[in-house]
Amino acid sequence: MSGLPSERHADGSARPLLEVENLKKHFPVYKGVFSRVSGHVYAVDGVSFHINRGETLGLVGESGCGKSTVGRTLLKLLEPTEGKIRVHGKDITDLDTQQMFPYREQMQMIYQDPYASLNPRMSAGDIVGEPLIIHQAGTRAERQERVASLFERVGLRPEHMSSFPHMFSGGQRQRIGIARALALGPELIVGDEPVSALDVSIQAQIINLLMDLQDEFKLSYLFVAHDLAVVEHISHRVAVMYLGRIVETTDKTSLFEMPLHPYTEALLSAVPIPKASARRRNRVILTGDVPSPINPPSGCHFHARCPYVMPRCHHDVPALREVVPGHWTACHLHDGGVRFPLAIDVIARSAATKQSP
Ligand code: SF4
Repeated sequence: MSGLPSERHADGSARPLLEVENLKKHFPVYKGVFSRVSGHVYAVDGVSFHINRGETLGLVGESGCGKSTVGRTLLKLLEPTEGKIRVHGKDITDLDTQQMFPYREQMQMIYQDPYASLNPRMSAGDIVGEPLIIHQAGTRAERQERVASLFERVGLRPEHMSSFPHMFSGGQRQRIGIARALALGPELIVGDEPVSALDVSIQAQIINLLMDLQDEFKLSYLFVAHDLAVVEHISHRVAVMYLGRIVETTDKTSLFEMPLHPYTEALLSAVPIPKASARRRNRVILTGDVPSPINPPSGCHFHARCPYVMPRCHHDVPALREVVPGHWTACHLHDGGVRFPLAIDVIARSAATKQSP
């Protein structure tokens, strides 16, 4: 794992629960009557990260940056094109469906659309109990007892077990999705924008439920989202993706108070600040369109939109480097030592100004 941001283990364990190394997922693009491969969509183009037990890694970026594909690929719902995926140090990259079976108990997913992810012909109780049947967990009575306790734990009443998905609200459907993900007692849950389809008031309830469950079961989350406020609330560490690559990763405090990558700076500058807040911030307006992942720009993928672009950014791919302890970024701006982005008025600096006599 040399060169990867994975030295510190929050719980003191020998290895992180999940290690992802140089993961790539390229989708072929077919053209013509013979369906020849005419190119590739570089959805995920070499990402590396780790998640410790009981930790939440927030994965953020604009729509189409490849963050959902990362979640699906590491669960092997999509076959990786290249790279390594390790769970408790065991390489699962090349395991087939049969060999992946025991790992399905450890790694589960909560989907973005709680309605589309539930079978409308099954009762809520059957949906939550289905993984237990597939994995032949316990007797029929034990499974029913487990489903009832899961319903209670996620805030649903036992009488809801016989209702069908269309009879629930959006928030209740997502609670069913969470109960299903918990059924086999997983260690890692990938949340693919699990609250973005919900009303704001319901979002808060679901986020708090996920955090309570994490404390209770020592769960690890990969939390995929584009809402930075939600990510700041739930995550321990955050990774920022742009066009298939991670461009910055660190703990959430460092990321939100001292962003080092111009793209992160632009994302944070777009977050609304309450009028009463002491925070000040200059908006960074990105110019240019989001490039196509079929034909990504050479060098730094962000160079066509970056306000700090330099000649070398057009051809040199910036490596993800640890520029201050625990803070990794992929930007040539910091090649000669850390340089804070110019436009953003970060909280740390305004706090320091206020404290000075
Ligand atoms: Fe901007 Fe260059 Fe840094 Fe890319 S490497 S973010 S283009 S300064």
